[in-house]
Amino acid sequence: MPSVRRQLAAVTAVLALSVTGGAVTSPAFADPREIKKEAMAAGYGGAVSTVDPEASAAAIEVLRDGGNAADAAVAAAATLGVTEPYSAGVGGGGYFVFYDAKTGKVGTIDGRETAPATMPTTAFVNPATGVVYTFAELVSSGVSVGVPGTPATWERALERWGTLDLDEALEPAIKVANRGFVVDETFRQQTLDNKVRFSAFPATASLFLPGGDAPAVGSIFHSKDLAKTYRLLAKDGTDAFYGGQLATEIAATVKDPPKDPAWVPPVTVPPTSIPALPGYLTTADLAAYRTLDQEPTHVEYRGYDVYGMAPSSSGGTTVGEALNILEPFDLSPTAKPAALHHYLEASALAFADRAKYLGDPAFADVPTEALTDPVFGKERACAIDPGTAAIKPVPAGDVASYDGACTVSPAAAADEKDTENISTTNLTVADKWGNVVEYTLTIEQTGGSGIVVPGRGFLLNNELTDFSYTSTNPEDPNRIEQGKRPRSSMSPTIILKDEKPFLALGSPGGSTIITTLLQTILNRVDLGMSILDSLAAPRASQRNTANVTAEPDFIKAYGDALAPYGHKLVPAGDAFTSAAEIGAATAIEFGPGNSMTAVAEPLRRGGGAAMVVKPSR
Ligand code: GLU
Repeated sequence: MPSVRRQLAAVTAVLALSVTGGAVTSPAFADPREIKKEAMAAGYGGAVSTVDPEASAAAIEVLRDGGNAADAAVAAAATLGVTEPYSAGVGGGGYFVFYDAKTGKVGTIDGRETAPATMPTTAFVNPATGVVYTFAELVSSGVSVGVPGTPATWERALERWGTLDLDEALEPAIKVANRGFVVDETFRQQTLDNKVRFSAFPATASLFLPGGDAPAVGSIFHSKDLAKTYRLLAKDGTDAFYGGQLATEIAATVKDPPKDPAWVPPVTVPPTSIPALPGYLTTADLAAYRTLDQEPTHVEYRGYDVYGMAPSSSGGTTVGEALNILEPFDLSPTAKPAALHHYLEASALAFADRAKYLGDPAFADVPTEALTDPVFGKERACAIDPGTAAIKPVPAGDVASYDGACTVSPAAAADEKDTENISTTNLTVADKWGNVVEYTLTIEQTGGSGIVVPGRGFLLNNELTDFSYTSTNPEDPNRIEQGKRPRSSMSPTIILKDEKPFLALGSPGGSTIITTLLQTILNRVDLGMSILDSLAAPRASQRNTANVTAEPDFIKAYGDALAPYGHKLVPAGDAFTSAAEIGAATAIEFGPGNSMTAVAEPLRRGGGAAMVVKPSR
């Protein structure tokens, strides 16, 4: 075991860091108020970007003390479990992508939640009416809770690539959970957005609605129960999560969600019903959970090697296919509307194929190779009219028969209703040895199922609503099946140039994750924008629907120029969130001489936190 653990303890008391201007300048970890957010930090020796300064500081602390990128990523993720409990945490799942500087290879861990072994395919149908429950009914229930994969992901990542043990990697998070963090606008707003359903579950209300209201901006939020849960994992490893008393409590909570029997909705408009349906997850499901080591997806785009997450996520294949579709076109910053038109059309085509072919490959025959084949992409590119947007939904391509020529007739149309939400969190870490992590983790909806395991300080996910639960089609690769992983859109991506890291990036945002990744790559690679501008630029998302959802600034900037193509832009946003934002990405770009530029969102979600170990002077 390395000596990092003792060093970390010392750092806690004395040296800890604060960050201003992207530079580590003065001791402050003891006082959360002093940690500032910066959207960009350039330098050497390691870098991190997350949506949260506490999580980024935790990663920097680990890197400074000799930990590597995998160690720092787990430390940051665990800290996000404290400060971003509505988007991340041990009650959820995610995908971890690692570039190993020693081997030059990219490897991935699929830590997706799974459906319980006894979950019936009709679990989302009301037996009394034969009608599928509404999303609102399913989301705050036990029935949408999948077997969490996050603790196992942390353990596997450390075992495979890290140098720390789990107890060491959890130390910064335990510290933040105990001493508390400062409530910001985003945390308060996310709590308010969930206030009604949180109030139905006493364990959730007592944690997140102290005194019946969302915590005030500027107050200190403590997570003592979560600190205890982390300490249990630190002491006994993840066996204490997938077995033992905690596993028993998780299963009991899912089976009989602890809703206040006297609860009545505090508001009647809109009408709110929380039946808190019982779920199927058992202690046997927890004991049987395994992460999967997976090969990444790979496509070449304009001389870059783009590695992504293979199914059960649709991220790697859909981003990869769309890039293959764009490859034959000359996209230039001097003809931006044309470039954006091609981006929107390529995305729609790739989403058509995602809907038809993507699901858990353990259950469905997913044509990953064809979908990321440049010949298939070239053939799909034939469907793009350079002057006119196609009528949506566009049909899927035929993966069984393609040759790159513009003659093959497409397979039947496949459209779908999208219920994924814009929660989740993402982080990027690099170390001084050149290892890189891109990690996206989630509990699905912002606030997950809304159900806290009593006394344990974390929310359970509602990831199973990522199944196409309204589908009765036995051919649907993403239909509910026992022990299956619901299709994800998470797209942690690492891009190499000449076999060395060039850019690592990822984002939250449900299915808009895919378009956020795509648009950011387009901005950086084709439109020549800086990585900060690429990430900050206003976004639009075409997921094979009649309208393009877009941020207000995108509509302002490009609405008129895209109208002649036939693109109809409508403001992003949904019934569950108050913001019309798309994504909240993080990235690190690698420059000459081991230099690194970490970037985070300047504004979305209140801005993220980019940091480096040694800032450039
Ligand atoms: N559940 C979504 C997925 O796995 C992520 C949720 C989100 O980003 O809001 O793709």
